[in-house]
Amino acid sequence: MSPQPNSSPYRRVLLKVSGEVLMGPREYGLDPETVARVAGEVKAVADMGVELCVVLGAGNIFRGVAGAAAGMDRTTADYMGMLGIVINALALQNALEAAGVPTRVQSAVRMDSICEPYIRRRAMRHMEKGRVVIFAAGTGNPYFTSDTCAALRASEMACDAIFKGTKVDGVYCSDPHENPGAEHIPRISHMEVLTRDLRVMDATAISLARENAIPIVVFNVRKPGNFAHVVSGDGLCTVVESV
Ligand code: UDP
Repeated sequence: MSPQPNSSPYRRVLLKVSGEVLMGPREYGLDPETVARVAGEVKAVADMGVELCVVLGAGNIFRGVAGAAAGMDRTTADYMGMLGIVINALALQNALEAAGVPTRVQSAVRMDSICEPYIRRRAMRHMEKGRVVIFAAGTGNPYFTSDTCAALRASEMACDAIFKGTKVDGVYCSDPHENPGAEHIPRISHMEVLTRDLRVMDATAISLARENAIPIVVFNVRKPGNFAHVVSGDGLCTVVESV
């Protein structure tokens, strides 16, 4: 597929979606309807001609800290979390290809009969050709999170921004689910997110994005059409940026 003319202010972006989003209304695992809907959001942005890569989490399947809390060795538990991310990546690839979007999965942990290994230059070439690249298995290292992986891959891929898809329209002074009067923050610096402990992403991820001057756009990925909307520069969101 040849790349489309780009109608967005962004040339190349990274989308981070947590496992919890892919779970939809379920209590565990993947909700096929929700995965198909997220694939539709990705397709809408790919159709705008924006180069796109995706980092997924695995909170819907397994988190290393939960395994460690239950008495497992933390490193083993984190490897299980990384394998959970691969499961989510294959599900999203399947939904994207069903929607007609050429997609490649690249895993940080080699599993050659299932997907490509992570190779930076090859990932960039895929995106230049209009393919969506899903980075699986996180960074491949225990003691890291998929948020940190998102900041790392966005830096390596020279992305213009990280789009963090959440359940809310951005960053608020307090939790809008608990406090309906919570004030929405349209723009904020990486440093302020860290000092106010606003939990947009974990501190390692925010620091890495800050050091590499990569903005983080926090938006509601559950609103239909919203990803394309915020990538177009419209829509309610919070932009975390260097000042
Ligand atoms: N993980 C890891 N290294 C990484 C990324 C992820 O060990 O670079 C493991 C870790 O156990 C984590 C799990 O994979 O708990 C799932 O990732 P995360 O908790 O970030 O998922 P999310 O909250 O985004 O669904």
